[in-house]
Amino acid sequence: MKTVFGPVPSRRLGQSLGIDPVPLQTCNWNCVYCQLGRTRPLVNKRSEFFPREEIIVEVEQALASHAPGEIDWVTFVGSGETTLHSGIGWLIRQVKNLTPLPVAVITNGTLFYQADVRRELSPADAVLPSFDAGNAELYLKINRPHPEITFERLVDGLTVFRKEYQGKLWVEVMLVRGLNDTEAALKEIAGILRNIKPDEIHILQPDRPPVETWVQPSDEEGVLRARAILGETAKIIHPASGSFDLSGDESLMEAVIGIITRHPMRQDELERALSQWSPGEVGQALADLIDSGRAQVIERYGVRFWSAAPSHYPEEVQSQRTMPGHSRQSV
Ligand code: SF4
Repeated sequence: MKTVFGPVPSRRLGQSLGIDPVPLQTCNWNCVYCQLGRTRPLVNKRSEFFPREEIIVEVEQALASHAPGEIDWVTFVGSGETTLHSGIGWLIRQVKNLTPLPVAVITNGTLFYQADVRRELSPADAVLPSFDAGNAELYLKINRPHPEITFERLVDGLTVFRKEYQGKLWVEVMLVRGLNDTEAALKEIAGILRNIKPDEIHILQPDRPPVETWVQPSDEEGVLRARAILGETAKIIHPASGSFDLSGDESLMEAVIGIITRHPMRQDELERALSQWSPGEVGQALADLIDSGRAQVIERYGVRFWSAAPSHYPEEVQSQRTMPGHSRQSV
């Protein structure tokens, strides 16, 4: 599978060229809100999952095929925990040699307790770790970590990383209704982040299908409460708008799979992204993806999302065949 995708619209990074250095669901967390399905098994051993040289060739090709202004950031992000790729430091340095574009790393921050991981991330312009809970019990409930990633280790790693790292540290808090959007939970998160001193705190809501059906985004009051309690560096990050660039893919089916594997898409987003192909071609490709078992439709909050078939969702998966020539409403 290709490891470079997009550019895709990002809530924080504009049009973002994505580098996905690990296979689907390679992660040491199993977050209740994960849009990739359940992590099985949890992986906490760093490895060169894809050869670094091949990733860089793809980056070079993607950069060469886009005019200046079409990409805002090059972002390590995707199918699992980015820092589990043992070559991430080399990859960041190579990307910096190839382009003056800023480089971001989206990570859960779990490996920051390791000095070599902290050192490898140091050339990145921005690092965006997660921090969803201010105590060990809630951390276990929301992030369901690998046993080696204790809460103390997570907090200690973030604290040391902040002291060493010179770039922008933007900590992401994903609000889950009834879990970490209460006054008490937010005060605990705020207390720890006050010591860590990130440049910004980004308040996010699950807007893609969460793996657990009971997960709900916070309500408006909860989001405002979070902004008030998390302090003046906290920003509410709204869902991204913009266009998905699928032009670098060789076939329509590969283009769709490349995106929905990392980023389940709402029906309307997919329709916009695929508008360069005719409705007949799109209908046929989606029907083929369902028939070949490579895609599935997930329904959350009354909205249908396309997702890659290997992702494991516990309920409400619909294997719907979309016939060519059907209304695009049925996509
Ligand atoms: S949301 Fe991110 S950190 Fe959490 S399980 Fe999914 S890939 Fe891992």
